[in-house]
Amino acid sequence: MKYIDELDIKGKKVLCRFDFNVPLDENLNITDDRRIKEALPTINHALDEKAKVIIISHLGRPKGKVVDTLSLKPVAKRLERLLKQEVIMAADCIGDEVVNLIQDMNPGSVLLLENLRFHPGETTNDDEFAKKLADLADIYVDDAFGNAHRSHASNVGITKFAKESCAGFLMKKELNYFNKAMENPSRPLVAIVGGSKVSDKLKVLINLIKKVDKMIIGGGMAFTFLKSMGYEVGKSLVDDQLLGEAGEIMEQAKKAGVKLYLPVDCIVAERMDDKAETKSVPVQEINPNWLGLDIGPATIKLFEEVLRDASTIVWNGPMGVFEMDRFSRGTFAMAHIVASLHALSIVGGGDTDVAIHRTGESDNISYISTGGGAFLQLTEGKVLPAIEALN
Ligand code: AMP
Repeated sequence: MKYIDELDIKGKKVLCRFDFNVPLDENLNITDDRRIKEALPTINHALDEKAKVIIISHLGRPKGKVVDTLSLKPVAKRLERLLKQEVIMAADCIGDEVVNLIQDMNPGSVLLLENLRFHPGETTNDDEFAKKLADLADIYVDDAFGNAHRSHASNVGITKFAKESCAGFLMKKELNYFNKAMENPSRPLVAIVGGSKVSDKLKVLINLIKKVDKMIIGGGMAFTFLKSMGYEVGKSLVDDQLLGEAGEIMEQAKKAGVKLYLPVDCIVAERMDDKAETKSVPVQEINPNWLGLDIGPATIKLFEEVLRDASTIVWNGPMGVFEMDRFSRGTFAMAHIVASLHALSIVGGGDTDVAIHRTGESDNISYISTGGGAFLQLTEGKVLPAIEALN
């Protein structure tokens, strides 16, 4: 796979695919522009080379139709402010008007094309649509790590038709950090896995067992494990279909010499509600009518001890329902602990980064991935379709 700095892009038409799928509020203001900021090194490099920078991205799920509220116009405005130069916005991402706009571009200028997903061919990876995109430029650059686990026209199909393809600097950064943590880590390597998508995360655990020295399991995930050990977990989140698999993972960990840690206490409530009565109980004492919604204080201490000698930490998924104040303490405490350590710490998965931003510790984490699903699939040991296409 080649990167943008290995190709001669001087004065050329460069089509850059980014993941500008940013959150918007009801007034269509961008509430978190990290994905746009992370694209700046690639854009600035292309501008320095006096390339004509043509940008493509998706936003939300318009399902192949034009949806005005999912226009990339707010992104154009923010990009203009960040780059301190004009960003021309096209009304579509293919067609004569786009071709004419590109023809009129000056070297070192920026054109943002409208939401790719306004066309059904984007998500169906349609060849015709992919070719139309590829034909817009001399060089195709994929820097959309957040979309790399999808096989879409603008990141997979397009590589069949582009004259030259390469990856951008964000892709490079994401893959470098991931490889540093997972392929050649400084040890001990500790994984923290939480969240609620038990079936997805079990695949992650199966792959991680082969690589890590210690594994911490928290969040909703933990209750499937506790139940498979015979504990009463009440109405906590459990995937009954996966009890056997959870037991097998614990067996495999034992055989591989991986130390596995589960919560020893948790915050329980009668219902998932910020106003519900809560209690902190040992996991042996969960009331059959209550549910566990966060790790407890003893677990936070235990996990802190486990992490103390970590040299590398990979974290995916919150320790509790952190969106509600009452069940956020465990996740926030873990964020402060991980941030205070001298370890290489890598965090991925949509919700985990939101939680860390809320604690104000983002700058104290070595790297926070911009890709939720893509990061998860990498930790599962999968090759991402976009990376495969570039290779
Ligand atoms: P995931 O996308 O798998 O990383 O899951 C993130 C979600 O897991 C967050 O929205 C949390 O609210 C939720 N979560 C964490 N702990 C629990 C729990 N004990 N019970 C139910 N949901 C949880």
